[in-house]
Amino acid sequence: VLLYRVAPDGLYAATDPDGELRILYSDPFEVASGGWQFGRRIETESAALLAPVVPGKIVGVGRNYRDHAAELGNPMPAEPLLFLKSPSAVVGPRAPIVLPPESERVEYEGEIALVVGTRLRRAGERQARGGLLGVTGACDVTARDLQHRDATFARAKSFDTFCPLGPAIWLESELDELEVRTRVNGEPRQRGHVREMAWGIVELLVYISRMMTLEPGDVVLTGTPSGVGPLGDGDRVEVEIPGVGVLANPVEAFREAGSSR
Ligand code: ZN
Repeated sequence: VLLYRVAPDGLYAATDPDGELRILYSDPFEVASGGWQFGRRIETESAALLAPVVPGKIVGVGRNYRDHAAELGNPMPAEPLLFLKSPSAVVGPRAPIVLPPESERVEYEGEIALVVGTRLRRAGERQARGGLLGVTGACDVTARDLQHRDATFARAKSFDTFCPLGPAIWLESELDELEVRTRVNGEPRQRGHVREMAWGIVELLVYISRMMTLEPGDVVLTGTPSGVGPLGDGDRVEVEIPGVGVLANPVEAFREAGSSR
């Protein structure tokens, strides 16, 4: 089951049992997909998709794939390395990633993102598994030069537009079979599978919920596989999770208001 959020009102939409994309009357955080009530039909081609969730917080996980830790010359941490990314960085599919003038090197990180469905506080494995609403695609855009310069990741991870999410939330996905692929200008750059993660999806939810309560709509970025690299003005980055779809975003340089393009 794929859950979209559509412009202009930010209503949820999903395909009904006949395969038509329709506005969802039911609250997907309250009602399981079997009991959903549907409204008017939406043309799939013309639908303007928004980020499928508006998170209260975004928890990132650094170095969750050994090959990515190695490519940046970092040792594997003994426990998951957590950071927070500002929710104001979220944009939807097709929205531009804007390269800020404060950074000389902005990089893509294609990731599997978890969307929390029910409140998790010091959750056990079973509760964590049941509390996951679904998964979506994310590009954890990072100002690599600032990340190296600062003691925390807050600035490097949180510029406006640095967190494309989407295109849909995949409910009831097979968590052991998820894969993420990143392309830049159509060229394959990254490929990762959940079995290559140092800490798995449920393990991460259990771990994070020990120190911060996870609320419905919160997002966890599960880390990026190797193959990260820079983005430039005019690039187009795609993060694909088979089953979720392709999250595609153009990249553009920051332009002061009034300057000519
Ligand atoms: Zn990341």
